[in-house]
Amino acid sequence: MSAQLIDGKARAAALRAEVAAGVAAFTAAHGRAPGLTVVLVGDDPASAVYVASKGKACREAGMVSGEYRLPADTAEADLLALIAQLNADPAVDGILVQMPLPRQIDSDRVIAAIDPAKDVDGLHPVNTGLLVSGRQGLVPCTPSGCLLLIREAMGDIAGAQAVVIGRSILVGKPMAALLTNASATVTLAHSRTRDLAAHVARADIVVAAVGIPNMVPGEWIKPGACVIDVGINRVALPDGKSRLVGDVDFEAARSRAGWITPVPGGVGPMTIACLLANTLAAAHARA
Ligand code: NDP
Repeated sequence: MSAQLIDGKARAAALRAEVAAGVAAFTAAHGRAPGLTVVLVGDDPASAVYVASKGKACREAGMVSGEYRLPADTAEADLLALIAQLNADPAVDGILVQMPLPRQIDSDRVIAAIDPAKDVDGLHPVNTGLLVSGRQGLVPCTPSGCLLLIREAMGDIAGAQAVVIGRSILVGKPMAALLTNASATVTLAHSRTRDLAAHVARADIVVAAVGIPNMVPGEWIKPGACVIDVGINRVALPDGKSRLVGDVDFEAARSRAGWITPVPGGVGPMTIACLLANTLAAAHARA
């Protein structure tokens, strides 16, 4: 048996088209397009690439894209002042501060300063609390994208056994909350988990969000399971080149799973599509 490949690129393109249609309707109804403003502090090249692709996707969806690039030595007070200005700006529906931030800035304080109604990354404690209590709020983009892929593959997941590997505030914890809200039975695993293999072997759904190449061997996977690989790891090849791999040993897992996401082309494209969806939702909620 070979797993069905989950085409994150195609699903993301469909979601982006849906959002673009929603943006056109919003613009017609309110006389302005939804706006997303991204703030980048410092010159981390990977962050600069993410910020550029977020801006491009935003414009392609018909939204207004704002961008602030601040020097690496920006004082926390200056960043907080910018956030206060964006909070007060009626044309800004979504604010995203690109992480990681330079050392002199406390990222928790920055996240807490964002108006929860504009927190399209879904990281503000108010949104975290709403998610855990199963109420409507802004949900972190990567786990939202994972849930859409899981639902498309499996449909109703009530009662399914799910194992999430990784407990970050960005991916693992919100993923576990989303799956719990969808009535799956969830195990949240991390670096201190004992006998991870036994947990994975029971799982109908495996979400791996660790950041260690191929740390989930294919033989752990329960036959027919849905495998969502969030990991993005660059590994060196013998010829001096490199390539991206996930946290799951793809080829071996593919021969056992029912569905599996490739890396790249699985979860990655869903993240930006969900960011656009969050911005549109934030615009509607504020309008
Ligand atoms: P973090 O480094 O914040 O978290 C990693 C988690 O993995 C931690 O909870 C850690 O446990 C756990 N972990 C580490 N080693 C093991 C182990 N041996 N067994 C089980 N669990 C372990 O990473 P993120 O959540 O931010 O990201 C995870 C991966 O997803 C990365 O590769 C990242 O690049 C990728 N990513 C991809 C995105 C996308 O759009 N596709 C978006 C965001 C991230 P503990 O808490 O105990 O330390």
